[in-house]
Amino acid sequence: MSRFLSERFSELRAFVPGEQPRDRQYIKLNTNESPYPPAPQVTAAVNGDAISKLRLYGDPENRLLRESIGAFLGLPPSRIFAANGSDEVLSYIFMAFCDKDIGVSFPDISYGFYNVYADLYGLSKHEIPLNEDFSLEIADYFNLGTTIVLANPNAPTGLCISRADIESIVKANPNNIVAIDEAYIDFGGESALPLTEKYDNLLVVQTFSKSRSMAGARLGFAIGCEGLIADLERLRFSNNPFNINSLSSAAGIAAIEGQAYYDKNTAEIIQTRDYSTKKLQELGFILTKSETNFLFLRHPKLEGRELYSGLRERGILVRHFDKPRTRDYVRITVGTPPQMEQLISALQELVS
Ligand SMILES: *Cc1c(COP(=O)(O)O)cnc(C)c1O
Repeated sequence: MSRFLSERFSELRAFVPGEQPRDRQYIKLNTNESPYPPAPQVTAAVNGDAISKLRLYGDPENRLLRESIGAFLGLPPSRIFAANGSDEVLSYIFMAFCDKDIGVSFPDISYGFYNVYADLYGLSKHEIPLNEDFSLEIADYFNLGTTIVLANPNAPTGLCISRADIESIVKANPNNIVAIDEAYIDFGGESALPLTEKYDNLLVVQTFSKSRSMAGARLGFAIGCEGLIADLERLRFSNNPFNINSLSSAAGIAAIEGQAYYDKNTAEIIQTRDYSTKKLQELGFILTKSETNFLFLRHPKLEGRELYSGLRERGILVRHFDKPRTRDYVRITVGTPPQMEQLISALQELVS
């Protein structure tokens, strides 16, 4: 740290992304990327013509992309906010809807960025403990008087709450924003999307990074009522109107056209997830009921750190969160069937 960094950031602890090592070829099951390439439509769209357009600024309103996402969801573009990954969407939500003294609430075990954004924007934060089994106590979120951010399905636990439960939380906080981060929704659970028709305090956040195989493109979006989207647009235009590069925008529009291809991959990943779950249970692992493209598991005989390093030595990268409540666990992305077979043999070796 230099002596010039603003005082208000002196304690800021940055987000720690999953490692992207270059030292050797790993089976990479640590950042919940898709094991499958983007849709063929995407390869076709990011061509010479799209590249020649890099000379120009893109459309600051991201109109074509928002129209295309909107058409897919059956919504007008005025109800879609698009940004550079859902991380950026979340950043704008924290910036826009959490005043210092109102603050923000989220579960104690959830996506690490919520904590970081709360600190970045100097917000008071309320980390609400999940139950012992990582389930979420709905009533803990009634009448909080703060902005609420929930990942559903949750990460890294993989667990879901129902749409009815989300509705009761939204209803019980009519004067505060509830943001539902649906990064994994294509792999399980019920989207809160239909509720955005009815409630002006609900935002649903989705991404192209997981089920659509485009983590590197950086594309995410939010759905809400027109007023909320206009607020987010106002902040985006005050910060970075060209937040989505034109190649990613073209890739995003093409990805929407390739939805049938992605649905097939998603079904495959769900099948691989459920198969791997069974195999790992047979080895004595204890898994949460994941509705995502990752597994969250522990073994009575081994610590999370040992699982993590044992797998790393065997060329498989997974994620370990060294916090009191998650220390015993590792989070493992669901890869292709052959990758999962290698994982299962490696874990079998480790536990025997
Ligand atoms: C991966 C992930 C994100 C970030 O997605 P990007 O669109 O790549 O920024 C957001 N929330 C959760 C819960 C995630 O797991």
